[in-house]
Amino acid sequence: MLDLLRARAHGGTTGTPVTHVERVPARPGTVADWPEWVPAELRAALAGQGVVAPWRHQAEAAGHAYAGRHVVVATGTASGKSLAYQLPALATLLADPRATVLYLAPTKALAADQLRAVAALGLDGVRPACYDGDTPRAERDWIRQHSRFVLTNPDMLHHGILPGHAKWSAFLRRLAFVVVDECHTYRGVFGSHVAHVLRRLRRQAARYPGTPRSVPGQRGASGGTGPAPDGPVFVLASATSGDPAAAAERLTGLPVTAVTEDTAPRGGLTFALWEPPLLPPPSDGPDPADLAESAAGAGVDAAPVRRSALRETADLLGDTVAAGVRTLAFVRSRRGAEVIATTARRSLDEAVPGLGARVAAYRSGYLREERRSLEQALLGGELLGLASTSALELGVDLVGLDAVLICGYPGTRASLWQQAGRAGRSGREALAVLVARDDPLDTYLVHHPEALFGRPVEATVLDPANPYVLGPQLCCAAAESPLTPADLELFGEGAKEAVEALVAGGALRRRPTGWYWRHAGRPEVDLRGTGGAPVDVVESSTGRLLGTVDPASSHFQVHPGAVYLHQGVSYVVDDLDLDDGCALVHAEEPDWSTHPRDVTSLSVVSVRSYLDCGPVGMFLGEVDVTSQVVSYQRRRLASGEVLATLPLDLPARELRTVAVWFTVSPESLAAAGVEAAEVPGALHAAEHAAIGLLPLVATCDRWDIGGLSTANHPDTEAPTVFVYDGHPGGAGFAERAYRAASAWLSATRDAIAECGCEAGCPSCVQSPKCGNGNNPLAKPEAVRVLDVVLTNLAQVAPAEPGDT
Ligand SMILES: [Zn+2]
Ligand SMILES: [Zn+2]
Repeated sequence: MLDLLRARAHGGTTGTPVTHVERVPARPGTVADWPEWVPAELRAALAGQGVVAPWRHQAEAAGHAYAGRHVVVATGTASGKSLAYQLPALATLLADPRATVLYLAPTKALAADQLRAVAALGLDGVRPACYDGDTPRAERDWIRQHSRFVLTNPDMLHHGILPGHAKWSAFLRRLAFVVVDECHTYRGVFGSHVAHVLRRLRRQAARYPGTPRSVPGQRGASGGTGPAPDGPVFVLASATSGDPAAAAERLTGLPVTAVTEDTAPRGGLTFALWEPPLLPPPSDGPDPADLAESAAGAGVDAAPVRRSALRETADLLGDTVAAGVRTLAFVRSRRGAEVIATTARRSLDEAVPGLGARVAAYRSGYLREERRSLEQALLGGELLGLASTSALELGVDLVGLDAVLICGYPGTRASLWQQAGRAGRSGREALAVLVARDDPLDTYLVHHPEALFGRPVEATVLDPANPYVLGPQLCCAAAESPLTPADLELFGEGAKEAVEALVAGGALRRRPTGWYWRHAGRPEVDLRGTGGAPVDVVESSTGRLLGTVDPASSHFQVHPGAVYLHQGVSYVVDDLDLDDGCALVHAEEPDWSTHPRDVTSLSVVSVRSYLDCGPVGMFLGEVDVTSQVVSYQRRRLASGEVLATLPLDLPARELRTVAVWFTVSPESLAAAGVEAAEVPGALHAAEHAAIGLLPLVATCDRWDIGGLSTANHPDTEAPTVFVYDGHPGGAGFAERAYRAASAWLSATRDAIAECGCEAGCPSCVQSPKCGNGNNPLAKPEAVRVLDVVLTNLAQVAPAEPGDT
């Protein structure tokens, strides 16, 4: 199949776009016997669904859970993780007619999928039901009273179930298992919030004792090593990830056993890395497909130098479809999915009229019926090509695909393997192609296959001790029932200090019986951010709510005059009302994109940890970041030409967060051949590339991260590069960068040094979100700066092989 794609001529370019081919051999499965505690009724029901015996990892994980040990199963896509929790959960529900199970999924779609799977087993008395924002009021009472297998999501648990715990007391009293599906998605600030929501759940479950909430006779009977847990047993399912037990323990606050050996069978996979060719020097305007990508990506400062990944993916999709290969193309944005489908359809129709109809776009916004009919068409073969956002990653099962095209690195190796894993489920040979986008991380990866293959996937990063998460969560907990000293232990590190601060601030009141929430209403806490209420984007003429924007990014995305894209439609912002948290927009498609400019300053509050490496210092600590969006540029869509720079009158924003930073003495820079005049550009270039490469070591997106570089910072009195978490209180990313500094910065250095451009491009040191218009940048000098840092760092902190 790869030869098919290779054969395609790249007009006027030389060399092959394929930078690496990795062969993943086929693997037979390893079957286990049914555990003897699985009742015949359940075996028969599963057999009716085509499950004749469990794979060994399923039986192993199920055995831990049934014996009362918290367990995380972290195996590949399509390895049947569901059975690992269905077995202990359903066996328990059948054995104990009072027991209950709570299942949590990150999306409603996945919960609905799991509901269908459990309901299809037709087990008596289980009465599975989804309880989420879509559940009609009339059904909610029935579910609380009668369902013994409730499927929901962390938001509903946080906003609905836990505040109404009294109504749920019968359910919580008998809670035997909590299933946390796709638990690797709980990362960063969101993951830190979910960690506390789970602690609140454990706390409420413990408040309603009376009946054993576990399987009678099972605890300790199976020779478990750990102490029998008090309360429900947690069963977590994760994509393959680095150290899943540690991440699951951080998430639940409980000791967790990990099952990581995937024993499901797998067909062979050919995995190719693909770098789109350089474009010939611009003679006419750029391709509209290239522009669509630039516009979707919030704008870049220079015209792309390579053919866009979208355009390349669309062509590859056209080629595979023309050859009758069932192909799924993944792309980050909805707009990107539409562009790929439209472009592929057009070129297919040009070749064979009517062939274009066999390609479609698929995105999470579609109704379930629409998605089902697309899935059916793909299974039936009427449809051969589908372009999709990564929505498919979560839950919805698509089988029988021959090839997967991945347009742009999805951000983590875990997601990459999840997407690639969609190919070849039927045991046949399959193809996966990663098409690099024009940015430093993608470019680095297609030239460093060792960074993708044969090394563990990233650890999931979260930080429940973040005071900006912990404080609000303690308020929620106190509003549910007064906090006791024992509770503080449950909420972990920093809880005592946080409660004292909440008392001092008037949110909680101390009484002899505990800490009480002082207000009438419930605390307003959004799990998906710490920056306060989101800003609504509203169409003025209709009053329609188009979407919401994180308050931290509202100044950048919806300042007055900004072009705002929503589902492929272009709007212009008339007004941003910060008091009401509302941006008013009207539909308009101007000939330009908008690019905010900001002024940022940073001061060091405290140092948590540092490495003294002679002329180089590496630090982790708290910082205050002040940034103000002061103006924006309008740039012509076709050429990137600056049409106007317009001032803005927006207040400065303050952010207390966690940063990693390094200092380099001016003498060592001079000795390395970096002239004083080039220092600002060298540091700035190193900062951009370092931010771009950070996702290599931490499960973050470059948009979660900010940076600042300066030739002389007042707090460090030296040339300094700061990289900080873009969320109040930090999300664990800067900390991770500090711990993996050698691996992170040497990848950064290589990414810059190996880029074929002369003076810096989006593949190396230019940043699409630079507030200074990517000026100044000194590419060769950035490599020298990083060499100085790495050489000195190596004296103190040995590189951490494999620890990325
Ligand atoms: Zn470059
Ligand atoms: Zn910059």
